[in-house]
Amino acid sequence: MTKKGFNTTNLHCDRRDNPEHGVLHKAIHPSVAYGYEDARELAEVFQGKRAGYNYGRQLNPTVTALQNRITAMEDGIATAAFATGMAAIASTMLSLLRQGDHIISSAYLFGNTNSLFGTLQNLGIEVSFVDATDLNEVKAAIKENTRLVFVETIANPVTQIADLAGIGALCKSENLIYCVDNTMTSPHLFSPKSVGASFSVNSLTKYIGGHGNALGGAITDTGLYDWSNFANIFDDYKNQDVKLWGITQVKKKGLRDIGASLGPEAAHHLAVGSETLSLRMDKACSNAQAIAEFCAAHPKVNQVYYPGLPTHPQHGRARELFSGFGGIMSIDLIEGVDCFDVLNALDNVVSSSNLGDTRTLAIPVAHTIYYEMGAQRRASMGIADSMIRFSIGIEEIDDLLADFETALA
Ligand SMILES: *Cc1c(COP(=O)(O)O)cnc(C)c1O
Repeated sequence: MTKKGFNTTNLHCDRRDNPEHGVLHKAIHPSVAYGYEDARELAEVFQGKRAGYNYGRQLNPTVTALQNRITAMEDGIATAAFATGMAAIASTMLSLLRQGDHIISSAYLFGNTNSLFGTLQNLGIEVSFVDATDLNEVKAAIKENTRLVFVETIANPVTQIADLAGIGALCKSENLIYCVDNTMTSPHLFSPKSVGASFSVNSLTKYIGGHGNALGGAITDTGLYDWSNFANIFDDYKNQDVKLWGITQVKKKGLRDIGASLGPEAAHHLAVGSETLSLRMDKACSNAQAIAEFCAAHPKVNQVYYPGLPTHPQHGRARELFSGFGGIMSIDLIEGVDCFDVLNALDNVVSSSNLGDTRTLAIPVAHTIYYEMGAQRRASMGIADSMIRFSIGIEEIDDLLADFETALA
């Protein structure tokens, strides 16, 4: 049988999983605990000898169904879902890394991931921040105790694109775990597996859920990393296929120790949202392209950051790797134009911190999400005081363009 398309697979997966009453949507299972007629079965579930559910923090059927969707989207082997994207990243790092380990991270990083990596440094895990658009910088940072490389696909808010394929080849030759945060591209625009990623991370809160009505995060193992090379796997998780060692440790330790589990109601919202991912994303990409071109030609705009513009430093890389340039676009205003005045003059654009919503959202980044890190680190990330980041939505393009025209006038 030929492999079905991204949308077909996602739209029909729940009803093919032998659901109660032939329901088309996986049911929301609110139960925290699961009863067994034969207590021996319960023991076997605990011992991993039988598939089944024991306690809602570790596993829930509605969450399992969502995990399976994400695994299919990423062409992976298994997914662990968490309460938020940050919970997915934190649980992965804390489950797999130990004191004395070293990781290499892109310096162009989501602010909260940057904060988490600071926490890891305080716990005795070394972190080197490098310009990951340049493979040589990543290569030069490798040390004997390096375990993992972490990058984002399109970095927030300046839209730098790491040398995703080059780093993939490097990680393979150096036996390093390669963790790609695919949130900005989503599995519709990019497959981290295609560049050799070991893990793909998605904040489900953003494009996959897509409606700003539920938080969630996931980490998917692509099946490419050889876990027999990794020193930090506990013996308890080695009595199975070696491909599953890493994700099993993330699921078992991450959910058990940190407990940031995804709830069934949120999993349901995210699963329904995911059904229109490709439609929403394509519309957001075409809207963002048109607005980026409009802003690039506008005298009040000093600089536009959007991978779809031929002037973007990694435009060629984006064209080669992604099937679209994304819905995130940032601008710097010329001197004397106040970013707050522009934001307040926009009508169909909401001042808000989220991204990946159906609505167009905008935020003055230096004054909000990147405020706490200070002026020096902001400057090193290329974030100007007048920068506005837009998460372009799926409104009619004429309404958005008219809005930008008025606000910038
Ligand atoms: C939002 C975001 C996260 C964190 O996701 P939450 O669901 O908000 O915790 C991680 N990485 C990137 C690139 C994001 O945009």
